Amino acid sequence: STFDEIMHFWAKERPDGHAFDQYGRVTTYAAADHLTRQLIALLQSRGIAAGDRIAWLGKNRDIYFLLYIAAARMGAVMVPIGWRLAPREIAYILGDTEAKLLFADAEFVETAHMVAGDVPANPEVIEGEAARLAAQGFEPAEYAPPGPHDPVLQLYTSGTTGNPKGAMLSNNNLLGLRNPGCEAGLDWQFYEPGDCMLVAMPCAHIGGTGLVNIAVANGVRSVVQAEFTPVGVLEAIEAGATHMFIVPAALQMVVQHPRAATTDFGNLKYLMYGAAPMPLELLKEAVRTMPTTKFLQAYGMTETSGTISILPPEDHSLEGNQRMRSAGKACPGVSIEVRGPDNKEVSRGEIGEVCILSPSNTAGYWKLPEATAKTIDPDGWLHTGDAGVMDEDGYVYIQDRIKDMIISGGENVYPAEVESAIYGHPAIAEVAVIGVPSAKWGEEVKACVVAKPGHEVDEADVIAWARERIAAFKAPKSVDVIPLMPRNASGKILRRELRAPYWEGQERQVS
Ligand code: ATP
Ligand code: MG
Repeated sequence: STFDEIMHFWAKERPDGHAFDQYGRVTTYAAADHLTRQLIALLQSRGIAAGDRIAWLGKNRDIYFLLYIAAARMGAVMVPIGWRLAPREIAYILGDTEAKLLFADAEFVETAHMVAGDVPANPEVIEGEAARLAAQGFEPAEYAPPGPHDPVLQLYTSGTTGNPKGAMLSNNNLLGLRNPGCEAGLDWQFYEPGDCMLVAMPCAHIGGTGLVNIAVANGVRSVVQAEFTPVGVLEAIEAGATHMFIVPAALQMVVQHPRAATTDFGNLKYLMYGAAPMPLELLKEAVRTMPTTKFLQAYGMTETSGTISILPPEDHSLEGNQRMRSAGKACPGVSIEVRGPDNKEVSRGEIGEVCILSPSNTAGYWKLPEATAKTIDPDGWLHTGDAGVMDEDGYVYIQDRIKDMIISGGENVYPAEVESAIYGHPAIAEVAVIGVPSAKWGEEVKACVVAKPGHEVDEADVIAWARERIAAFKAPKSVDVIPLMPRNASGKILRRELRAPYWEGQERQVS
């Protein structure tokens, strides 16, 4: 199915059902259908045709999602740009896209004008609410919907390992798995008409825009919060949010917020988490905090339009379940293989690169043919750059990014495992593990930690704590206490920034 078909369908089937709820401002499915067709007329009036790019700079707003759906219906390509990026980074993405129009939420109009003037295409800037008003003056447009494989969303990767890359995603990529986030044995009808998706992760990330794909595909309500705040999430759950997606760093802030202790989590049926390694202790703490909520781990990437494997709720029992460390099994319609350097599948239980064949796989990166060829095989398999293991039952265990793997004295160390072991130390709020040069070992393991307020971190104590939990060669040899963890807009730790000062003037070997 396509966004165009879906909007026609729900406008007829559930005209009064809520599509978007932004702090009480409701847009029903009938209204969303009508308004997106008016927005198409507005886009056409500005010379936008199928294949043209339009961009959004701002927080999560209902008008962004409506513009995205409008673009997808007529075959224009929406490019959401993360508002937390520095102007230089915004200009990089905007220039790369050659977008003809730049929509911005009011807070970012000034930045939008500034960056628009800096890029050759010099896109016209239109404030989001002004676009809504202007569109309401148009008759709904006549248009030809795009083909199923034409791109409609150009989503930049998070830029965790380098410059962000624009993954081009089509109707078929975004909707072809029907309901990728919620499969794994669960029928899509498990969304009931009254269900409500909390959208608090940034719309420039697949965890934000991808959630709306699922909600709209199922005809349910998206509660749009401008940005993530722990209190916002707790309030939305008490107000009736039934489904949400959250990254581990944000989940930590939610469960450790003082208000969590008095929050009633009873409304929240499903909590999906992923996008970065989940420390086991944090997951257990979250499961204890929300005893009636079903937990799902999602693994995926921008290039796969989001989730392609799911760890289902039944694998989240607190009684010594080894599977809680797993990213679960391939969603229906997806094939996952763990491959060695010869691009052949390794034996079960062995580490290799996680590779994916899925209808949700991008056709390629915008204007990066070499990166595309390196990532996607001629037969369509996508190389994730993640190291993983598959067990006999098809459960995938993501170790970490191959680029971040530390080779110390010939042993491979995956930072995520070390971080998970250190997480839970009473004096430590946040931890990142990196490889630093070592004359003896080639590389050695270093932990960079942020102390909990009012706590002192003792290096020897952290090393001893880790050695009690993991093999000695994996435990850090040194600990840096840092004031602030460097993270990107999606909350992911930027290990390359932590590594940089130690590798100045030296090339780090990456397998
Ligand atoms: P860039 O590609 O620009 O370096 P990025 O890879 O962080 O940035 P995303 O597409 O947002 O950009 O993230 C996908 C990556 O996130 C995956 O390749 C994987 O490393 C990580 N990831 C996603 N889900 C999980 C998960 N459940 N467990 C561990 N890691 C995950
Ligand atoms: Mg990536």
